[in-house]
Amino acid sequence: MMQILNTLSNKKERLTPRRAKRIQLFVCGPTVYDYAHIGHARTYLAFDFIAKYLNKLGYKTYYLQNITDIDDRIITRAKEMGIHTKELARNFEKAYHEDERKLRITSISKYARATDYIPTIIRQVKLLLKKKHAYKIENDGYYFDLSTFPRYGVLSKRTSLQAEDSVSRIDESKGKRNKGDFALWKFSKPSEPYWNTELGKGRPGWHIEDTAITESIFGPQYDIHGGAVDLIFPHHEAEITQQESLSNKKPLAKYWLHTGFLTINGEKMSKSLGNFITIRSFLEQHETPTLPFDATTLLRYMVLSQHYRTRVDFTGTLVTQAKQALITLFDFEKRLTMYATRTLKLKPGEDHKKQKLNNKYILQFHKALQNDFSTPQALAIIFEVIHTINTKMDKQKATIHDIVNTRALLALLYELFGLRFRTVQIPKEVKKIVTEREEARKLKNWQRADELRDKAKALGFSIEDTQKGPIIHSLYH
Ligand code: AMP
Repeated sequence: MMQILNTLSNKKERLTPRRAKRIQLFVCGPTVYDYAHIGHARTYLAFDFIAKYLNKLGYKTYYLQNITDIDDRIITRAKEMGIHTKELARNFEKAYHEDERKLRITSISKYARATDYIPTIIRQVKLLLKKKHAYKIENDGYYFDLSTFPRYGVLSKRTSLQAEDSVSRIDESKGKRNKGDFALWKFSKPSEPYWNTELGKGRPGWHIEDTAITESIFGPQYDIHGGAVDLIFPHHEAEITQQESLSNKKPLAKYWLHTGFLTINGEKMSKSLGNFITIRSFLEQHETPTLPFDATTLLRYMVLSQHYRTRVDFTGTLVTQAKQALITLFDFEKRLTMYATRTLKLKPGEDHKKQKLNNKYILQFHKALQNDFSTPQALAIIFEVIHTINTKMDKQKATIHDIVNTRALLALLYELFGLRFRTVQIPKEVKKIVTEREEARKLKNWQRADELRDKAKALGFSIEDTQKGPIIHSLYH
């Protein structure tokens, strides 16, 4: 039974989608004015996992993501670069998709660009005006009148007074009826991009693109809305306000899931602090040929080893811990294979015949994940199993079922977490060093042989001298 913590009720609830076995999931996508950073990766990898896990449970998840391709940040950046906003947005949208491919984010069913939904946005604003939820401020735009929506604050648990007090990220305008009123449509200033519409020359406010998109694709209500915790207020609160005022149906989304923010060494990531790490720079920097996994696996593991709701503090220690855990997994799997073939004489491909239907490890793993997608709990079970089986293998007491069930558990982990392992290729340079060392050894030049061993070590490889000749091992540096 899948239980999820719903921000709306602040309780763990049993997942019961509106239509049996189908889930409509909407997650706020990126504002495409720059390269995506590892904070985005934290949120999008968490939702990729969530969608994949729901599918694994037998649901058909339709995962919708918007692309914000018009907003103030896009306008400012395009001006700085002297290019059209559309050109800037398309370039960074393309880069975002490239990053997603590299991260193996494959669960998104549809992307919807804000600018492709202008007619629906106009229709929604007109209806809000007609229903007296919205008003016009001359030379400024159209605003939502918060005094017409008593449920305001239902998600963020703020009263409208508290909302009024909080001026952060709220549209500024002198003519507003209530301090917290937010823009639905902004008239464009000269030199700003605009759409010439019945509402006048302008562009959409921040929140209306999402309700226009979700209403077009899902209708006025759907199952799950996600995003990071920073969006609860005012963004998600405003979406509820708009859509529930339009349709008179509540709730807009039955479940609200929020990911914790990623910080860098305890600080918010920002360009001005010089701690801004893009996904592509992370992947480039951490791609290490001597490791038995790629940088994507490292990032996926780092993110998924934390519960999606907790804050992730990106530090050197977190990277090291993730590397060590992945090496443990890789070494353990190697040991399992050796034990299976050498001790148990299990032939390759025989696994599925030997797996017990009631694989208790897998049942425990699912139980953890069904507790609000608790990936840390699920990983704790994996490491417990590793410990148990290692002890059994030490005593030569691991059975075929132990091995096969453990392998099935690991396969499930790799599939759901998107982890990939590889055989470390020995670089030509290292092979040359080993040959040279063999020659030095033949000449009994031990000093040279030791020097060459150190050289190989510095490159991340150790040399084991056996009767059959030298064996090269990766030191996983
Ligand atoms: P933005 O590009 O700022 O519109 O954000 C796109 C999505 O990424 C939203 O769901 C944000 O809440 C999320 N996000 C942005 N920065 C971070 C961060 N540092 N940590 C986690 N999620 C983030």
